[in-house]
Amino acid sequence: MAKFGVTDADNYGGQGGNYFSLKDDGDSAVVRFMYNSIDDIDGYAVHRVDVGNNKFRYVNCLREYNDPLDVCPLCAARNFQQAKFYFNIYDLDEEEVKIWERGKQILKSLVPVLQQINGPICGTPVKIIRHGQAGDQYTRYDFELLAPDGVTMEDLPDPVDPNEKIILTYTFDELQNFVKTGRLPNAEVAVDNSNGYSSGHNNNYNNNSGGNEIRRRYPSNDNNGRGGTGNNRAF
Ligand SMILES: [Zn+2]
Repeated sequence: MAKFGVTDADNYGGQGGNYFSLKDDGDSAVVRFMYNSIDDIDGYAVHRVDVGNNKFRYVNCLREYNDPLDVCPLCAARNFQQAKFYFNIYDLDEEEVKIWERGKQILKSLVPVLQQINGPICGTPVKIIRHGQAGDQYTRYDFELLAPDGVTMEDLPDPVDPNEKIILTYTFDELQNFVKTGRLPNAEVAVDNSNGYSSGHNNNYNNNSGGNEIRRRYPSNDNNGRGGTGNNRAF
């Protein structure tokens, strides 16, 4: 069904927004990390929330790292806060923007490689190679720099803002209500459909989704300069 009306035009045609993944051991892809410098990479403190039907949403944590737990109803309910990165990458094979969702562990291997790039990070293609079978929790990734080609951010499609496309933001009262009732208001409105981020439903709050995660505190420089609430930068 490739027909669409003018009001749906934003949902079609290279807007980007699919998730990037390498499925199995030895898989690789050549991408650009869509940033000028390391400082442009943002981390996000989020909760992974079960919304039923085997679907989940990321919701902004309301707590700065040094706030008490009760500042955020989801933290207070022991839904563990996660530090996530939603890297904007441009897949050179498929010629589209994708989001690569990773925990902060990826920084140890990725940042030293990106720091070797002279000039804008996006101007040097990077080969990502997966080491680890599908489902292996110890999977790691290697990064190889290819020859710089001088591509700039202006040459590329607009990056995806995770706070617009991926992470839902609610007030304290809305989250408090969600913990009590399992209802997550507007979860289906705030998330794009047709873009790889599946739409959601409003029930079955699972008090312990992601419960085997260890909650970690991590430094924040308190910089919320890119708009959006709860946007913690991890370095
Ligand atoms: Zn929280």
